[in-house]
Amino acid sequence: MRRKVLIVEDEPDIAHLVQTHLTDIGCEVDIAGNGAAAMSLFKKGGYDLVILDLKLPDTDGLTLCRNMRASPDYVAILMLTAKSTELDRVVGLEMGADDYLTKPFSVPELLARVKALFRRMDALSDNSSDSAKQERIEWGGLLVDVDKRSVKIDGSPVELTAREFDLLLFFVRHPGRVFSRIQLLDKVWGYNHDGYEHTVNSHINRLRAKIEADPAAPRYVLTVWGVGCGVQIQRGAVKF
Ligand code: CA
Repeated sequence: MRRKVLIVEDEPDIAHLVQTHLTDIGCEVDIAGNGAAAMSLFKKGGYDLVILDLKLPDTDGLTLCRNMRASPDYVAILMLTAKSTELDRVVGLEMGADDYLTKPFSVPELLARVKALFRRMDALSDNSSDSAKQERIEWGGLLVDVDKRSVKIDGSPVELTAREFDLLLFFVRHPGRVFSRIQLLDKVWGYNHDGYEHTVNSHINRLRAKIEADPAAPRYVLTVWGVGCGVQIQRGAVKF
C-alpha cells in the first residue's frame, strides 16, 4: 500500500534526505518548508503520516500538531526536535504526536519509527479481510464504528480525539484482558519508551470523562489492581 507522507521541515538538507529514504521504501513524499505551506498541503488531505519539525520559521510544531489533530481525518504524526528535554517530549505526545525523534537522528532509526507507525496504522485500521465484520463493535450501550471512527453511548455521539479512539478501539478488541500502562504505550502509541505512563494515564482519564457516566466509578474502562496494575475494558455488556 502506497503511503503519502508530508515532511514539514525548514532545513532543506534534512527534508531531502528524509524524502529520499522514504521514497526508497515506496512512499509518496511532499515537503513543506514552513507552517503555512504545511497546512495548505495538509488541507488537501490524503496523508498517512506527517513528519513534523518542532522549530519552524513561521509557527511552532506544537501548534501545527494541534491544528492537524483537529482535522477529522486521522494522520500519524512523528515529531522532530532539536530539544530532548523530558518536558518537550511529554508536551509533544500530549499534543497528539504519535512518536518523537530527537535531532540529530540516524536514517535507520527514522525508518524504523516510520515503519512501526505504518504497522500500527494497519493494525488499528484493520485492512484485513475480516474488516467487514469488525466495522461496528457494540458493547452494552457503547457503539464503536471502526470505519467512521465514531463512538456512541446509548445512541448519543461522543467526541474523541484520534488517540482516545485508538485506545478505546484497542480495549474493545481485547475484551476482558488486562494491560499495563507500558503495554498500552507499546500497543496503542506504537513505541516503547520508559517513563511515559502518565501519558497513558491522562488519556485514560480523558476517555473515561467522555464515555463513563461516573468517571470515578468507571463501568467500561476499569483499573485492575494487582500484578503491575493494569486497565481493562469490562467483559460482557455493561448497561448504564
Ligand atoms: Ca527547523
